[in-house]
Amino acid sequence: LGEPFTKARNVIQTLEDNGYEAYFVGGSVRDYLLNVPIGDIDIATNAKPDEMLKLFKRTVPVGIEHGTVLILDGEHEFEVTTYRVEGEYDDFRRPDSVEFVRDITLDLSRRDFTINAMAMSLDGDIIDPYGGQEHLLQKEIHTVGQPKDRFTEDALRMLRAVRFASQLNFKIAHDVNEAIKEYGSLIKYVAVERIQVELFKMFKGVGLKQGLHSLNMTQLYKSLPLFKGEHSLVRSLIETVQDPIPFENVVIATLSLLSKDHDLNDWVKAYKLSNKLKRESLHVLHCYDEYKRKGISETLVYHVTHDYFVHFLELVFIIDREKIETSELTTLFEQLPIQSRSDLAVTGHDLMNMFPSVRKGPWIGEYLSKIEQLVLQGKLKNNRTEIESQVKRWKEQESN
Ligand code: ATP
Ligand code: MG
Repeated sequence: LGEPFTKARNVIQTLEDNGYEAYFVGGSVRDYLLNVPIGDIDIATNAKPDEMLKLFKRTVPVGIEHGTVLILDGEHEFEVTTYRVEGEYDDFRRPDSVEFVRDITLDLSRRDFTINAMAMSLDGDIIDPYGGQEHLLQKEIHTVGQPKDRFTEDALRMLRAVRFASQLNFKIAHDVNEAIKEYGSLIKYVAVERIQVELFKMFKGVGLKQGLHSLNMTQLYKSLPLFKGEHSLVRSLIETVQDPIPFENVVIATLSLLSKDHDLNDWVKAYKLSNKLKRESLHVLHCYDEYKRKGISETLVYHVTHDYFVHFLELVFIIDREKIETSELTTLFEQLPIQSRSDLAVTGHDLMNMFPSVRKGPWIGEYLSKIEQLVLQGKLKNNRTEIESQVKRWKEQESN
């Protein structure tokens, strides 16, 4: 095994030397077998959390009640979880309790899909009780056990099926698809924060087309906030979006533009998006709007700002299929007299000092933005003396 598994050698070896078992589990095993880049490494062990705390010096008890301990080793950290099975589910979301067990096969049985229910030892031996490897070859998503049972335990798994279809470019197996059609509406019991995570992962997927088709075929969208009222939205996503969308702000901007009855605020509320994401999505939307009205210009690149070039260009490409080169924006940007307000030769503080008798208030911001405009348009030099004499003229005109 190569990186990143070898980094965990110490942790697994320590557990084994003390008579416990420890395996890589879940996504890392799946991605390793698929030969695609590996995300987080999860480790499962039959050591109980308190036994782990005793064995390792540097630990963080991140989820002791679920059996998860974060083990720090040098600069690396690993989530290590005690083999467990889950108790009764009576709300379609989360188990009421978990129970620690000593057998890895039992731990694998609680996992959602066969391709996620494999374990691998430090030597590379695979434990695969549910046909995960075969389903990887077939590129199909199958549940561990009956789809109906697994989806009524935790309804989020239905959206996870769609997300993995997108992430891996896999098909959802027929029985799984049928079960989602039947039980899809249970997803209303799932916290929207968990739904959000899976949706963003879906939009990032290399097989986004496949994912969107699955969202459509399973009719799961009919039970998702906002999608449910807009039956044409998934269709227009399928027609419009050709490539994965790695940026969440671009996802939200795209949804806002393509949905007929909902704007950005509705998406923010329905999915409880963070203020930061709201701000960023609004920013790309405004820039897109300015672009549609006036095309590429100096003021536009100034507004977009360098950090958002890729996001803005991606949105234009998704919606209009127009491929603008980043270099086109960068060239314009580099020729600007100023690249942000902080490049101005004067600050709000300077303006206040110029007129000590005038109370501070909105005039400072208004002046700064007038100066900014003039400097950008090349009508005023970004030079302290010139700006100050311009400002004095304005003040005089005002007092006349
Ligand atoms: P990635 O990290 O690439 O997004 P992953 O497979 O690691 O994919 P996670 O959501 O990180 O997915 O979950 C880790 C593992 O935990 C899964 O592979 C699966 O075995 C199990 N798992 C996660 N969520 C559920 C769930 N809702 N029901 C059952 N098992 C789950
Ligand atoms: Mg993971």
